[in-house]
Amino acid sequence: GRMSALAGKTVLVTGASRGIGLATARALVAAGAAVVLSARSAAVCEDEARSIAATGGRATGFGCDVADYESVVALVDHAQAAHGRLDAVVNNVGMIEPIGPLETAEPEAWAASVRVNLIGAFHVVRAALGPLKAARGTLINVSSGAAGRPLEGWSAYCAGKAGLAMLTRSVALEMDGAVRVYGLRPGMVDTDMQAAIRDSGVNEVSRVPREQLLPPSVPAAAVVWLAGTAPADLSGTEVDVRDPDFRKRAGLDG
Ligand code: NAP
Repeated sequence: GRMSALAGKTVLVTGASRGIGLATARALVAAGAAVVLSARSAAVCEDEARSIAATGGRATGFGCDVADYESVVALVDHAQAAHGRLDAVVNNVGMIEPIGPLETAEPEAWAASVRVNLIGAFHVVRAALGPLKAARGTLINVSSGAAGRPLEGWSAYCAGKAGLAMLTRSVALEMDGAVRVYGLRPGMVDTDMQAAIRDSGVNEVSRVPREQLLPPSVPAAAVVWLAGTAPADLSGTEVDVRDPDFRKRAGLDG
């Protein structure tokens, strides 16, 4: 096979039990990286890591709720103990709920969304930045078009993702090149999250036919390219798999 920029590197993926995170973990393994798969469902991640190992890849699974900082610290400790290093982190966890109008929003549910989508991502940054800096590594925050515009019924999600985009810029500023950081907008992708969006019937995204959604392998390939190439000029910015210039550069059109 081709020499890979990821050979010998360790990458941590959060939200790796299904959807974009799982496809990303598999693509990173295929590109030669050792991968830590993490989600709340520890057993799913451990089983996946075992089947990756059975086919010659290097992976471990570890249960973690990103809303709980101690749980995230344990995850980063696991990555270093199991693999000896940490070169890249894919901050992929996200939740769409609660969907509904601001006027009737449940305050606890709204706060829980921000606790996962924004504060959870901060927890991962806080715990991983030391090892990433030591490795001159890469951080990829999985963003959304919702970071840049409001969508009806998605106020918690949009606010959390907009905050995450500013966290991306903040990391880039403080790390000053020692860690390269990207906000990756994955497009509309065929996952459980999009099924929940379709079921809600709220706003135009719920009416996008399933056949028009991207397979998770597309954002996964974008992550592999970002983690392997770490383009300096894109650090601190939001990149979008729907942007033709980005697609061309990352080789997403095949
Ligand atoms: P998904 O299918 O719902 O998967 C979410 C993943 O996150 C699962 O592995 C889930 O596993 C994990 N997770 C959820 N809450 C967690 C928590 N508190 N702690 C740890 N893990 C948690 O979502 P997806 O569609 O793949 O989305 C992945 C990312 O892409 C998200 O950040 C999302 O906002 C973003 N995104 C997706 C789309 C899209 O069209 N799908 C579009 C734009 C952006 P457990 O339940 O086992 O914890």
